[in-house]
Amino acid sequence: MNKAESERLASLFQQLGYQPTLAAEEADLILLNSCVVRQSAENRVINKLSALKSLKKSRPSPTLAVTGCLVNSDAPGLRERFPHVDYFFKPGDYPQWLKEPGQLLRVLPERPQPSTFVPIIQGCDNFCSYCIVPYRRGRERSRPVAEIVGEAKELARRGVKEVVLLGQNVDSYGHDLPGKPDLSQLLYELNDIDSLARIRFLTNHPKDMSLRLIEAIASLDKVCEQLNLPVQSGDNEILKAMRRGYSVEHYHQLIRQIRSRIPEIALITDVIVGFPGESKEQFQATVNLLRELRFDNVHVAVYSPRQETTSAREYEDNIPPSVKKERLNIVEQLQEKIATEINAELLGKTVEVLVEGRKKGKWHGRSRSGKLVFFSENSELLGHMVKVKIAKTSPWSLQGKG
Ligand code: SF4
Repeated sequence: MNKAESERLASLFQQLGYQPTLAAEEADLILLNSCVVRQSAENRVINKLSALKSLKKSRPSPTLAVTGCLVNSDAPGLRERFPHVDYFFKPGDYPQWLKEPGQLLRVLPERPQPSTFVPIIQGCDNFCSYCIVPYRRGRERSRPVAEIVGEAKELARRGVKEVVLLGQNVDSYGHDLPGKPDLSQLLYELNDIDSLARIRFLTNHPKDMSLRLIEAIASLDKVCEQLNLPVQSGDNEILKAMRRGYSVEHYHQLIRQIRSRIPEIALITDVIVGFPGESKEQFQATVNLLRELRFDNVHVAVYSPRQETTSAREYEDNIPPSVKKERLNIVEQLQEKIATEINAELLGKTVEVLVEGRKKGKWHGRSRSGKLVFFSENSELLGHMVKVKIAKTSPWSLQGKG
């Protein structure tokens, strides 16, 4: 979401007459788009802000602005801490000099990539006990279907082949709009755009994902066979403390339904290890779930208490860092083994790749299931759909011949 917003902010600045520069010393304006989902991300923003302090002493000094999740309702506190920053504004709450609030959503990236993010819903109403997002990004606000479809058509007209629909919880898309359209309805409309080739979306929520959506993915040719469905823990007590709103049994059933209707689906999940009070057995339950369900990819993070959240207020962060690290390693090693086996099944198969760029003499792009594919080919292929035969696999990517 931050990446998408940064792209749109960059375009907005270009419309206002600014040119991009890679050197901070050359900039008239520096805007930091911050993430504080974990303490380490917050530390990075704070360090960057401190490093920029000396630039403010230069003449003429650049305007310094900060947005993103660091900016909470306590902007006066931030101003006191960082007096060298000229503007603080919450995500989506842009000051007058950056046009009206909400305007950013309607700004298209200046040079869209073959695959481009399209935010469809902002904020989150879920209040999972560990998560800071609802406090910083506010309640859910969906963009109207017509606005999103119009934007996707314009992007397709500019050569974009794939749209990735974004939301903290795409399954609650539309509940706040007249007529309550849902994500599946949006997918049906986007699927009708002729020059668009692929549609993806993230992130889903196991509590809210509907059978209608599974049906839409199964029946729409442009919707790719890939789902991000965070489970977070394989233990019901921990899930309850996390306030996730579903049980391990429900999650298993959902995966069964998805796999029986869309056998070729690639599944990605998120896991938090070291949540307050997570026992050895509870962690083992998560490992067992991962072993049983065999995901294509797992994003694993250690629990990090975020101020303001319920879990930080109510539970002691009582799992030692060394244990958290050990659990993280266990999940990573298991997942590496599983991904090695899953990807090895693609050896010798031909996959369709949307070419997104070139690195070290090799083209790269993603298959429909979201696998990163590298291959060599002399002709100009950026933005093309090519068939690639897979000659080598690893847990992280595939190598092939064009
Ligand atoms: S659904 Fe996602 S964004 Fe919303 S509170 Fe839970 S973890 Fe945070």
